[in-house]
Amino acid sequence: MSGWVKIAGLGPGDAALVTPEVMAALAEATDVVGYIPYVARIAPRPGLTLHPSDNRVELDRAGHALQMAAAGGRVVVVSSGDPGVFAMASAVFEALEAHPEYADVPIAVLPGITAMLAAAARAGAPLGHDFCAINLSDNLKPFDLVLRRVRLAAEGDFAMGFYNPRSASRPHQFGQVLAALREAGAGPRLITFARAVSTPEERLLTVTVDQATEDMADMRTVVLVGNSATRRVGNYVYTPRSA
Ligand code: SAH
Repeated sequence: MSGWVKIAGLGPGDAALVTPEVMAALAEATDVVGYIPYVARIAPRPGLTLHPSDNRVELDRAGHALQMAAAGGRVVVVSSGDPGVFAMASAVFEALEAHPEYADVPIAVLPGITAMLAAAARAGAPLGHDFCAINLSDNLKPFDLVLRRVRLAAEGDFAMGFYNPRSASRPHQFGQVLAALREAGAGPRLITFARAVSTPEERLLTVTVDQATEDMADMRTVVLVGNSATRRVGNYVYTPRSA
């Protein structure tokens, strides 16, 4: 029995942005576990069992991965982007905390290119100075805390990357985030809506926070807010290195 769990990031979408380390892990795997659309990105082959599961069952999925690895499976848990950014890596360690019987299963986290960095690269260099990442979903934290962090990040003049900005079940919270930015004085700042980065549906739109409307974002969009010095040069958006 020499099972393991590797928690791998598949990058933002383009196969060219999957790391060689992740490709090697997938080539050795007996099992792939993950959210349905991410598992759909893995090519089936003999000897590999795909285990797609629904959203919001991260802990069950993580427990299942540990269980299969304890029984000798070589299990790759897939996330989009980077597995440590609002994704499966923490879920696997939470499951490990709850199941000390799996303490000896070898676990490795294989990084990937996260949406915020892929989007920033497309736009230019909007995150070229200090920045932070905030998940706007209130699935695992109260929405008040989301608004508080957005306000404080704006006051601190951080550039920001927003994940999960808007979904069908919470279409209007993003409007409140935009209002919080304006109240904090960030209305004149540049904001970039980067949708489906590195896929054929990719689309980027840069406006000011004052001009932004909530319908500019959906679940496939990562939103980048510049700091007060972020500006345009040619067709690019960049943040100077000094403040
Ligand atoms: N672990 C992932 C993030 C998962 S949360 C990562 O590191 O990228 C899901 C959110 O990520 C989406 O709602 C969206 O905000 C963002 N996202 C993921 N892939 C994206 C892409 N190709 N283009 C734009 N945003 C993306």
